[in-house]
Amino acid sequence: MSTQNTTQLTITRPDDWHLHLRDGAALEAVVADTARQFARAIIMPNLKPPVTTTEQALAYRGRILEALKKAGGNVDAFTPLMTLYLTDNTTSEEIFRAHESGQVYAVKLYPAGATTNSDAGVTDLLGKCTKALEALEKCGMPLLVHGEVTDPSIDLFDREAIFVERVMKPLRRAFPALKVVFEHITTKEGAEYVRDAEGPIAATITPQHMLYNRNAIFQGGVRPHYYCLPVLKRETHRLALVEAATSGSPRFFLGTDSAPHARGLKEHACGCAGCYTALHAMELYATAFDAVGKLDKLEGFASFHGPDFYALPRNTGTLTLVREAYQVPEEVAFGNTTLVPLAAGEALEWRARA
Ligand SMILES: [Zn+2]
Repeated sequence: MSTQNTTQLTITRPDDWHLHLRDGAALEAVVADTARQFARAIIMPNLKPPVTTTEQALAYRGRILEALKKAGGNVDAFTPLMTLYLTDNTTSEEIFRAHESGQVYAVKLYPAGATTNSDAGVTDLLGKCTKALEALEKCGMPLLVHGEVTDPSIDLFDREAIFVERVMKPLRRAFPALKVVFEHITTKEGAEYVRDAEGPIAATITPQHMLYNRNAIFQGGVRPHYYCLPVLKRETHRLALVEAATSGSPRFFLGTDSAPHARGLKEHACGCAGCYTALHAMELYATAFDAVGKLDKLEGFASFHGPDFYALPRNTGTLTLVREAYQVPEEVAFGNTTLVPLAAGEALEWRARA
Protein backbone atom coordinates (compact mmCIF):
# COMPACT_ATOMS: atom_id res chain seq x y z
CA MET A 1 0.00 0.00 0.00
CA SER A 2 1.45 3.38 -0.94
CA THR A 3 1.15 6.17 1.60
CA GLN A 4 2.28 9.04 -0.59
CA ASN A 5 -1.13 10.74 -0.49
CA THR A 6 -1.14 10.82 3.31
CA THR A 7 -1.25 14.40 4.58
CA GLN A 8 -1.45 13.76 8.30
CA LEU A 9 -0.37 10.88 10.50
CA THR A 10 -1.10 10.40 14.19
CA ILE A 11 0.98 7.74 15.92
CA THR A 12 1.42 6.48 19.45
CA ARG A 13 4.00 8.70 21.13
CA PRO A 14 7.46 7.45 20.10
CA ASP A 15 10.61 6.73 22.13
CA ASP A 16 14.27 7.25 21.23
CA TRP A 17 16.26 4.11 22.03
CA HIS A 18 19.70 5.70 21.55
CA LEU A 19 20.45 9.26 22.63
CA HIS A 20 23.44 11.36 23.71
CA LEU A 21 22.56 14.23 26.03
CA ARG A 22 26.04 15.03 27.42
CA ASP A 23 26.09 17.05 30.64
CA GLY A 24 26.11 20.58 32.06
CA ALA A 25 25.37 23.44 29.65
CA ALA A 26 25.17 21.10 26.62
CA LEU A 27 22.57 18.95 28.37
CA GLU A 28 20.52 22.02 29.23
CA ALA A 29 20.61 23.22 25.63
CA VAL A 30 19.36 20.01 24.03
CA VAL A 31 17.23 17.96 26.42
CA ALA A 32 13.98 19.81 25.70
CA ASP A 33 14.25 18.98 21.99
CA THR A 34 14.06 15.26 22.72
CA ALA A 35 11.31 15.65 25.33
CA ARG A 36 9.17 17.54 22.80
CA GLN A 37 8.86 14.48 20.52
CA PHE A 38 9.65 11.46 22.66
CA ALA A 39 8.18 10.05 25.87
CA ARG A 40 11.31 8.10 26.80
CA ALA A 41 14.91 7.86 25.70
CA ILE A 42 17.77 5.47 26.37
CA ILE A 43 20.54 7.77 27.61
CA MET A 44 24.06 6.88 26.54
CA PRO A 45 26.63 6.74 29.37
CA ASN A 46 29.75 7.99 27.55
CA LEU A 47 30.31 11.06 29.69
CA LYS A 48 33.72 12.10 30.97
CA PRO A 49 34.18 10.16 33.23
CA PRO A 50 31.80 7.46 31.95
CA VAL A 51 28.69 6.43 33.89
CA THR A 52 29.87 3.08 35.24
CA THR A 53 27.88 2.74 38.49
CA THR A 54 24.23 2.80 39.45
CA GLU A 55 24.94 5.69 41.78
CA GLN A 56 26.37 7.75 38.90
CA ALA A 57 23.45 6.80 36.66
CA LEU A 58 20.89 7.93 39.22
CA ALA A 59 22.74 11.21 39.79
CA TYR A 60 22.88 11.78 36.01
CA ARG A 61 19.17 11.05 35.77
CA GLY A 62 18.56 13.76 38.37
CA ARG A 63 20.65 16.26 36.37
CA ILE A 64 18.73 15.45 33.18
CA LEU A 65 15.36 16.15 34.79
CA GLU A 66 16.73 19.27 36.47
CA ALA A 67 18.04 20.53 33.10
CA LEU A 68 14.72 19.78 31.42
CA LYS A 69 12.88 21.75 34.07
CA LYS A 70 15.29 24.70 33.68
CA ALA A 71 14.80 24.57 29.90
CA GLY A 72 11.03 24.86 30.36
CA GLY A 73 10.28 21.25 29.38
CA ASN A 74 7.61 19.05 30.91
CA VAL A 75 9.34 16.71 33.36
CA ASP A 76 6.15 14.69 33.85
CA ALA A 77 5.99 13.78 30.17
CA PHE A 78 9.57 12.56 29.69
CA THR A 79 11.40 9.62 31.26
CA PRO A 80 15.14 9.16 30.86
CA LEU A 81 16.01 5.45 30.74
CA MET A 82 19.51 5.19 32.15
CA THR A 83 22.36 2.91 31.10
CA LEU A 84 25.73 1.85 32.48
CA TYR A 85 29.00 1.91 30.58
CA LEU A 86 30.51 -1.57 30.50
CA THR A 87 34.21 -1.77 31.39
CA ASP A 88 36.64 -4.64 31.85
CA ASN A 89 35.97 -4.24 35.59
CA THR A 90 32.13 -4.09 35.74
CA THR A 91 31.02 -6.56 38.45
CA SER A 92 27.91 -8.74 38.47
CA GLU A 93 26.88 -7.00 41.73
CA GLU A 94 26.85 -3.66 39.90
CA ILE A 95 24.61 -5.10 37.19
CA PHE A 96 22.14 -6.47 39.75
CA ARG A 97 22.19 -3.17 41.65
CA ALA A 98 21.46 -1.32 38.41
CA HIS A 99 18.58 -3.61 37.58
CA GLU A 100 17.08 -3.33 41.06
CA SER A 101 17.20 0.48 40.93
CA GLY A 102 14.32 0.40 38.46
CA GLN A 103 15.92 3.34 36.58
CA VAL A 104 18.72 1.61 34.69
CA TYR A 105 17.51 -0.31 31.65
CA ALA A 106 20.58 -1.43 29.76
CA VAL A 107 24.37 -1.65 29.68
CA LYS A 108 26.40 -0.25 26.80
CA LEU A 109 29.41 -1.92 25.22
CA TYR A 110 31.94 0.37 23.61
CA PRO A 111 34.96 -1.42 22.20
CA ALA A 112 37.91 0.63 23.58
CA GLY A 113 38.53 3.61 21.28
CA ALA A 114 35.49 3.12 19.00
CA THR A 115 33.90 6.58 19.34
CA THR A 116 33.50 9.77 21.44
CA ASN A 117 34.68 9.19 25.04
CA SER A 118 35.21 5.44 24.65
CA ASP A 119 38.76 5.23 26.04
CA ALA A 120 37.50 3.31 29.10
CA GLY A 121 35.74 0.79 26.87
CA VAL A 122 36.09 -2.96 26.87
CA THR A 123 39.39 -4.47 25.65
CA ASP A 124 38.39 -8.16 25.68
CA LEU A 125 34.65 -8.85 25.91
CA LEU A 126 34.59 -12.62 26.33
CA GLY A 127 37.86 -12.63 28.26
CA LYS A 128 37.08 -9.95 30.83
CA CYS A 129 33.31 -9.41 31.00
CA THR A 130 31.79 -12.88 31.42
CA LYS A 131 30.51 -12.26 34.97
CA ALA A 132 28.80 -9.05 33.90
CA LEU A 133 27.33 -10.70 30.81
CA GLU A 134 25.99 -13.61 32.89
CA ALA A 135 24.35 -11.11 35.24
CA LEU A 136 22.76 -9.23 32.33
CA GLU A 137 21.44 -12.45 30.86
CA LYS A 138 20.03 -13.46 34.25
CA CYS A 139 18.13 -10.22 34.84
CA GLY A 140 16.98 -9.85 31.24
CA MET A 141 18.62 -6.47 30.78
CA PRO A 142 19.78 -5.73 27.22
CA LEU A 143 23.41 -5.28 26.23
CA LEU A 144 23.64 -2.36 23.80
CA VAL A 145 26.50 -2.83 21.38
CA HIS A 146 28.54 -0.31 19.43
CA GLY A 147 29.35 -2.84 16.73
CA GLU A 148 32.67 -1.87 15.22
CA VAL A 149 36.06 -3.50 15.62
CA THR A 150 38.77 -1.02 16.59
CA ASP A 151 41.72 -2.81 14.98
CA PRO A 152 43.48 0.04 13.10
CA SER A 153 44.47 -2.33 10.29
CA ILE A 154 40.78 -2.82 9.36
CA ASP A 155 39.36 -0.36 6.83
CA LEU A 156 37.00 2.10 8.52
CA PHE A 157 34.14 1.17 6.19
CA ASP A 158 34.50 -2.56 6.96
CA ARG A 159 34.58 -2.39 10.74
CA GLU A 160 30.92 -3.25 11.30
CA ALA A 161 30.80 -6.24 8.96
CA ILE A 162 33.96 -7.65 10.57
CA PHE A 163 32.55 -7.01 14.05
CA VAL A 164 29.61 -9.29 13.23
CA GLU A 165 31.99 -12.18 12.55
CA ARG A 166 34.65 -11.51 15.17
CA VAL A 167 32.59 -10.32 18.14
CA MET A 168 28.82 -10.51 17.67
CA LYS A 169 28.58 -14.16 16.65
CA PRO A 170 30.96 -15.48 19.37
CA LEU A 171 29.19 -13.31 21.98
CA ARG A 172 25.78 -14.66 21.07
CA ARG A 173 27.00 -18.26 20.90
CA ALA A 174 28.38 -17.88 24.45
CA PHE A 175 25.26 -16.08 25.78
CA PRO A 176 22.34 -17.23 23.63
CA ALA A 177 19.66 -15.88 26.00
CA LEU A 178 21.27 -12.43 26.37
CA LYS A 179 19.18 -9.64 24.89
CA VAL A 180 21.38 -7.69 22.47
CA VAL A 181 20.67 -4.43 20.67
CA PHE A 182 23.05 -3.88 17.75
CA GLU A 183 23.10 -0.08 17.93
CA HIS A 184 22.96 2.23 14.91
CA ILE A 185 23.56 -0.43 12.28
CA THR A 186 24.97 0.97 9.05
CA THR A 187 25.50 -1.99 6.73
CA LYS A 188 23.68 -4.65 4.75
CA GLU A 189 25.68 -7.23 6.70
CA GLY A 190 24.47 -5.80 10.01
CA ALA A 191 20.84 -5.60 8.88
CA GLU A 192 20.83 -9.14 7.48
CA TYR A 193 22.48 -10.55 10.56
CA VAL A 194 19.85 -9.01 12.84
CA ARG A 195 17.02 -10.04 10.53
CA ASP A 196 18.07 -13.70 10.37
CA ALA A 197 19.82 -14.50 13.65
CA GLU A 198 18.17 -16.70 16.25
CA GLY A 199 17.35 -15.49 19.73
CA PRO A 200 16.71 -12.08 21.33
CA ILE A 201 18.42 -9.57 19.07
CA ALA A 202 17.30 -6.22 17.67
CA ALA A 203 18.89 -3.13 16.11
CA THR A 204 18.42 0.62 16.17
CA ILE A 205 18.65 2.68 12.98
CA THR A 206 19.44 6.43 12.82
CA PRO A 207 17.80 8.96 10.51
CA GLN A 208 21.12 9.90 8.86
CA HIS A 209 21.82 6.31 7.85
CA MET A 210 18.36 6.05 6.29
CA LEU A 211 18.60 9.38 4.44
CA TYR A 212 22.21 9.63 3.24
CA ASN A 213 25.03 7.59 1.84
CA ARG A 214 28.73 8.44 2.17
CA ASN A 215 28.67 10.82 -0.80
CA ALA A 216 27.01 13.31 1.57
CA ILE A 217 30.28 13.70 3.47
CA PHE A 218 32.16 14.78 0.34
CA GLN A 219 29.58 16.74 -1.68
CA GLY A 220 31.57 19.63 -3.23
CA GLY A 221 34.03 19.61 -0.33
CA VAL A 222 34.25 17.99 3.07
CA ARG A 223 30.97 18.23 5.01
CA PRO A 224 31.71 17.69 8.68
CA HIS A 225 28.07 17.80 9.75
CA TYR A 226 27.46 14.52 7.90
CA TYR A 227 30.31 12.80 9.72
CA CYS A 228 29.28 10.37 12.43
CA LEU A 229 30.40 6.99 13.73
CA PRO A 230 29.78 4.44 12.48
CA VAL A 231 30.40 6.48 9.34
CA LEU A 232 27.83 6.68 6.50
CA LYS A 233 28.26 3.83 4.02
CA ARG A 234 27.65 3.31 0.29
CA GLU A 235 24.17 3.36 -1.28
CA THR A 236 23.62 -0.43 -1.21
CA HIS A 237 23.90 -0.29 2.57
CA ARG A 238 21.54 2.66 2.90
CA LEU A 239 18.97 0.76 0.84
CA ALA A 240 19.33 -2.30 3.09
CA LEU A 241 18.76 -0.15 6.18
CA VAL A 242 15.67 1.50 4.68
CA GLU A 243 14.31 -1.92 3.83
CA ALA A 244 14.95 -3.21 7.37
CA ALA A 245 13.42 -0.17 9.11
CA THR A 246 10.33 -0.14 6.92
CA SER A 247 9.87 -3.94 6.83
CA GLY A 248 7.59 -4.11 9.86
CA SER A 249 10.00 -6.52 11.57
CA PRO A 250 9.88 -6.03 15.35
CA ARG A 251 13.67 -6.40 15.42
CA PHE A 252 14.25 -2.88 14.08
CA PHE A 253 13.43 0.28 15.98
CA LEU A 254 14.16 3.97 16.31
CA GLY A 255 17.39 5.23 17.86
CA THR A 256 18.52 8.66 16.70
CA ASP A 257 22.06 8.58 18.11
CA SER A 258 21.58 12.35 18.22
CA ALA A 259 24.89 13.76 19.44
CA PRO A 260 25.39 17.49 20.01
CA HIS A 261 28.85 18.89 19.21
CA ALA A 262 29.43 22.65 19.05
CA ARG A 263 29.78 23.97 15.52
CA GLY A 264 33.46 24.82 16.04
CA LEU A 265 34.28 21.27 17.12
CA LYS A 266 32.68 19.82 13.98
CA GLU A 267 34.24 22.40 11.62
CA HIS A 268 37.71 21.63 12.87
CA ALA A 269 40.99 20.04 11.70
CA CYS A 270 39.99 16.95 13.72
CA GLY A 271 36.20 17.26 13.75
CA CYS A 272 34.01 15.36 16.23
CA ALA A 273 31.79 12.48 15.09
CA GLY A 274 28.03 12.84 15.50
CA CYS A 275 24.88 14.34 13.97
CA TYR A 276 22.38 16.49 15.85
CA THR A 277 18.89 15.16 15.11
CA ALA A 278 16.94 15.60 18.35
CA LEU A 279 15.56 18.90 17.01
CA HIS A 280 13.64 17.27 14.16
CA ALA A 281 14.00 13.51 14.56
CA MET A 282 10.45 12.56 13.63
CA GLU A 283 10.48 14.92 10.63
CA LEU A 284 13.61 13.15 9.37
CA TYR A 285 12.24 9.65 9.92
CA ALA A 286 8.88 10.55 8.35
CA THR A 287 10.75 11.86 5.30
CA ALA A 288 12.72 8.60 5.02
CA PHE A 289 9.62 6.38 5.38
CA ASP A 290 7.58 8.56 3.03
CA ALA A 291 10.28 8.38 0.35
CA VAL A 292 9.60 4.64 -0.04
CA GLY A 293 5.82 4.86 0.51
CA LYS A 294 5.98 3.14 3.91
CA LEU A 295 4.57 5.70 6.33
CA ASP A 296 2.23 2.98 7.56
CA LYS A 297 5.27 1.22 9.04
CA LEU A 298 6.53 4.26 10.96
CA GLU A 299 4.47 3.71 14.13
CA GLY A 300 5.75 0.16 14.66
CA PHE A 301 9.36 1.30 14.20
CA ALA A 302 9.05 4.45 16.31
CA SER A 303 6.58 3.46 19.02
CA PHE A 304 6.05 -0.31 19.37
CA HIS A 305 9.10 -2.43 18.58
CA GLY A 306 11.39 -0.71 21.11
CA PRO A 307 9.22 -1.07 24.22
CA ASP A 308 8.25 -4.59 23.18
CA PHE A 309 11.92 -5.62 23.00
CA TYR A 310 12.76 -3.95 26.33
CA ALA A 311 9.58 -5.47 27.87
CA LEU A 312 8.22 -2.04 28.77
CA PRO A 313 4.67 -0.79 28.25
CA ARG A 314 3.94 1.09 25.04
CA ASN A 315 3.19 4.80 25.48
CA THR A 316 -0.36 6.04 25.72
CA GLY A 317 -0.04 9.55 24.29
CA THR A 318 0.19 10.45 20.60
CA LEU A 319 2.28 12.50 18.20
CA THR A 320 0.90 13.99 14.99
CA LEU A 321 2.93 14.52 11.84
CA VAL A 322 1.60 16.77 9.09
CA ARG A 323 2.77 17.05 5.50
CA GLU A 324 3.94 20.64 5.57
CA ALA A 325 7.07 22.36 4.23
CA TYR A 326 9.74 22.68 6.90
CA GLN A 327 13.04 24.43 6.40
CA VAL A 328 15.64 22.98 8.77
CA PRO A 329 17.43 25.89 10.51
CA GLU A 330 21.07 26.58 9.57
CA GLU A 331 21.98 26.45 13.25
CA VAL A 332 20.46 26.54 16.73
CA ALA A 333 21.70 28.02 20.01
CA PHE A 334 23.97 25.80 22.06
CA GLY A 335 25.03 27.51 25.30
CA ASN A 336 27.28 30.37 24.18
CA THR A 337 27.98 28.76 20.82
CA THR A 338 25.81 27.07 18.15
CA LEU A 339 24.89 23.65 16.87
CA VAL A 340 24.25 22.68 13.25
CA PRO A 341 21.40 20.19 12.93
CA LEU A 342 21.43 17.39 10.36
CA ALA A 343 20.10 18.55 6.99
CA ALA A 344 20.66 22.22 7.98
CA GLY A 345 19.14 24.51 5.38
CA GLU A 346 17.36 21.68 3.57
CA ALA A 347 13.61 21.55 3.05
CA LEU A 348 11.71 18.63 4.57
CA GLU A 349 8.09 17.79 3.84
CA TRP A 350 6.99 16.79 7.32
CA ARG A 351 6.41 18.62 10.54
CA ALA A 352 5.77 17.12 13.99
CA ARG A 353 3.11 18.54 16.28
CA ALA A 354 3.49 17.33 19.86
ZN1 LIG B 1 25.79 6.73 20.00
